[in-house]
Amino acid sequence: MISSTRKPLPTDSASILDLKEVRVHFPVGSDWMGRPKGLAHALNGIDLDVRGGETLGVVGESGCGKSTLAQLLMGLIKPTSGSLNWIYNDAHERSSNVQIVFQDPQSSLDPRLPIWKIITEPLFVQRSAPRGEMREIAAKVAEQVGIRTEYLERFPHQFSGGQRQRIAIARALSSNPDIIVLDEPTSALDISVQAQILNLLQELQRSRDLTYILISHNVSVVRHMADRVAVMYLGQIVELGRTAEVLERPRHPYTRLLLEAVPRLGAPLDNAQVAAPTELPGNRQLPTGCFFRDRCPLATTGCDKPQLLAAAAGAIGDNLVRCHLESVVG
Ligand code: SF4
Repeated sequence: MISSTRKPLPTDSASILDLKEVRVHFPVGSDWMGRPKGLAHALNGIDLDVRGGETLGVVGESGCGKSTLAQLLMGLIKPTSGSLNWIYNDAHERSSNVQIVFQDPQSSLDPRLPIWKIITEPLFVQRSAPRGEMREIAAKVAEQVGIRTEYLERFPHQFSGGQRQRIAIARALSSNPDIIVLDEPTSALDISVQAQILNLLQELQRSRDLTYILISHNVSVVRHMADRVAVMYLGQIVELGRTAEVLERPRHPYTRLLLEAVPRLGAPLDNAQVAAPTELPGNRQLPTGCFFRDRCPLATTGCDKPQLLAAAAGAIGDNLVRCHLESVVG
């Protein structure tokens, strides 16, 4: 059973990372001279602050830009334009150390390494701890995630799926990250162990003051874990706000369609289930005005005007709804 004792997000929790108008475009194809034939517009103006100690859920269909956002936060790709700033203050020096827990612990752990080496991989890469201390650090972190220290010399195949995900979580923790990206952390696990892993993540967050970015297709997981939720569509955040507000009273037409597609017990979202009249458009040729225009049941003639959307975004305090009709939609 998923624990119900989750910590409330402090109202004064400070931003630790600020993204402003971030765009990421990738070249696609090439002509006979090797020049790119076009651009894939993966992220198209992301404005987002990540707050210390929160869990920020990110939801949307496959291809909406969630994975590119994760890669950007990990420092694996650079923004094409816009800014991504870590916020430093005297109390908490930020180091832009972002770690990730992947969906499939089977493929994310090197089968040739004993788990103490896997757990301390980030420390080896960052050269942030003496080699002689690595095993001791691995033992401490393994204990925190419920892996017995006498198992440290074992290899990944000697563990169950749930234990392997605990090892992946230990690896993410070992370098004391500022943010951990949880990329569908339970979707490859048996139902019986999903709740254990979610409870472990929540306990670790409370005890270590961790900040999570939770990427998930599973709305029930987001509902249990996230303090705020960002809904992404075609590389933009179309709605952002407190989880209860966004999931109980969605204001953007896309969020509504997305939630209507989720069966009551919260099965994973599937592109084919989203009750929009057309498929998610490709990201090579972006629409003018609202990106959701061709699929939106409420589209009007004003929806092709970018300036209307700019005025609507951020119009309701802390929340963002990228729709100029949001005041009448709600
Ligand atoms: Fe729909 Fe127009 Fe709102 Fe876009 S701006 S979500 S097309 S109503």
